[in-house]
Amino acid sequence: MGLGVRCRCGFTNGPLADLCLKCLGDLALPSDCRRGRNGGPFAWETVDLSQVYPTAPFEETVERVSVDLHALLRYRLLLAGLLRWLERLDTASSGPIDEIVSFLRGGWPFAEHVNLNYVARRRMRIFGGLNHARRPSRVFQDWFGVLVKRARDVGLERLDIALIDEAYSGSGLGRIWKLLTEAAARQPNMGRVEVRLHFAAVIPEDAANRPQVLKKTQRPPMTAKGISLIPEFTLLYGPVLFYDDPKFLGLDRVSGGDFEQEDYRIVKWRASLFSMTCPVTRQAIWNGGTIGEGDAPSFISSFVSLGLSHDRPEIDQLARGLVSEGCPDCRRLLALVNEEGQP
Ligand SMILES: [Zn+2]
Ligand SMILES: [Zn+2]
Repeated sequence: MGLGVRCRCGFTNGPLADLCLKCLGDLALPSDCRRGRNGGPFAWETVDLSQVYPTAPFEETVERVSVDLHALLRYRLLLAGLLRWLERLDTASSGPIDEIVSFLRGGWPFAEHVNLNYVARRRMRIFGGLNHARRPSRVFQDWFGVLVKRARDVGLERLDIALIDEAYSGSGLGRIWKLLTEAAARQPNMGRVEVRLHFAAVIPEDAANRPQVLKKTQRPPMTAKGISLIPEFTLLYGPVLFYDDPKFLGLDRVSGGDFEQEDYRIVKWRASLFSMTCPVTRQAIWNGGTIGEGDAPSFISSFVSLGLSHDRPEIDQLARGLVSEGCPDCRRLLALVNEEGQP
């Protein structure tokens, strides 16, 4: 927030930033506050997948992958909505967000998209899924304790945390809230800290029980040990594309909830032909070459940057294809995507 940790260049960074977001200068964060980033773009609180990815073998090469173009364009609009939400929070009068958090596996594509496309990069902090093993919950609570301690040490009276999570049933949101209230109650009773928890709940269009999800977002603030937790929920609707799909997420879960340590398997594959197909005309609107190669940490990230970025010629090619081969919905959705402008 406004009185965050100021770099020599004048830019205000969050209390746990080890690197200035603007000038990339070292912020001399105390060693007991350094967490997960290790010079990389993401702060990995649990297993660092970027370390595992390069050595994971390709499992197979498939001839052709076809994706529903309507769903893809709506997904693109969802991602744009997410970035607009962060931008709004970052430019609020109270100052920029201190921490941006997401969880494996469902939050992984969102984290990648924010880091690839958001103006303030290198800010995602990623935790293993809170029901993937016991450790991620502990690490999450530990992070919260370090954050509050650091805020008190540097005299911050307010923290703003953005949390991005898909909300299929809402149980994940409930779990996050429970863990944070427990963690707050465990801190020493010292100076007052107001913690604003800005949740982006990404609700799939086919969410099993929407009223139940909405109920999970009705939570009154609570205070423990001088720490006030003030939740605020923003609901984003859209197709949560590839939800629970190891192949497209590039990631499978190996561990169970009762395991001690979370464990994941990288799912790495190539496709030699990639097409987006209009579900109405059944025409393949866009045919692309190989994806799933290169440094992209998952299939979906190459997919998002290849097929969904604004500054790529592929979108122009897509637009030309739509004139003759798409349906009115294709054209309407593409117009909306173009209106969004560069994310
Ligand atoms: Zn700086
Ligand atoms: Zn169509």
